Parts: sequence; C-alpha cells; structure tokens
Amino acid sequence: MDKIQGFLEVGLNDEGEVVVNHSDLKPDENGIGHIVFSADQAQNLSRLLSRHADQSDSDARLRHEEEVRKAAEEIPVDRDCRVLTDGSPVTSDHREIDPATGQQKDYVVLCESERKKGFVRPVRRSYRHTACGTVTFMGTALAETYARDPGFYSGTFCSNCRTHFPLNEFVWEGTTEQVGS
Ligand SMILES: [Zn+2]
Repeated sequence: MDKIQGFLEVGLNDEGEVVVNHSDLKPDENGIGHIVFSADQAQNLSRLLSRHADQSDSDARLRHEEEVRKAAEEIPVDRDCRVLTDGSPVTSDHREIDPATGQQKDYVVLCESERKKGFVRPVRRSYRHTACGTVTFMGTALAETYARDPGFYSGTFCSNCRTHFPLNEFVWEGTTEQVGS
C-alpha cells in the first residue's frame, strides 16, 4: 500500500467539531482513499484528536458559564432579602463578637431565593489572608452570597488572626483575585 505524502492537520472548526485535513488523498482503483500510519503516528494522531476534543468540550463549557453569568448579571440584586446563615431572620445582636472565637454571633447572607437567581462569579469557599498566609473556609450560604453579589461584604474573618479585616487583605484561595471583586 502506498504511503500518503504530506501532512495531516487536526483542528477545530467554528462549530467546535474536530476536523482532520489532508491535502492529497489519492483514491485507489476501487475509489477508496487510504491513510497509513506507523504505530507511533497513529498514537500521536489519537492524542491530537483527543486533545482537540477536550479543547472543544472545555470551550463549550466556558461559553455556557459565560452565558449563565451574563444572564445572572441582568437580574438586579435585592440586598434587602437578607437572613442569617441558617436562614433565620436577622437579629439586632448578630454582630456581637464571641470572645472565644473572635467571630460574630452570626453573619448576614442574601436569602436563598435571591442567591438562586444566579451567580455572577464562581462559588468559592476559601480565601487566604495575605498578611498571615492562612486559608479560611466558609459555609455555602456565605460563599453563594459572594458569588451572587461580590460587593455584599466589606470585610471578612481570618481564622488564624481570629479577627475581621477589610476585603483588600484577602484573595480567593489559589488565585490572586481579591475577595469581593
Ligand atoms: Zn490572618
């Protein structure tokens, strides 16, 4: 069997489909074109196909996430719809600091129906205090409130320093992105 001359190209088209191009597929006497690979070339092609398929999937996922985010931004946030982290009504003494932990008695979050209207940022559950390097984790209601309305809070708690600081002292864990931005 004759070896095909030239190069195969693997790529993505505008629809995110994986395309293989070859400049010169010469049909045989039965009208059939052949592409012949060594084992190494076949493995390389399989890796290329797989990589482009993964890229296509990931492009589609990012486009989808962007559409969801844009849709959420269109809906104004109702900051009056607020509750404590367990969903109970906001109390006048929730800001009192527990001397044992340094944390407030409780924290205000956006109510669940407001959070369900859509997130304009990813839901991130941990942040790093840049001054001491310690990572603090938070519960779902708080994390979702940041994701729905990044400007909802002005400060947050560091579990190592055991006190609250302005948000410009914190970044989301694994990023350089400031908490609240
Ligand atoms: Zn700290």
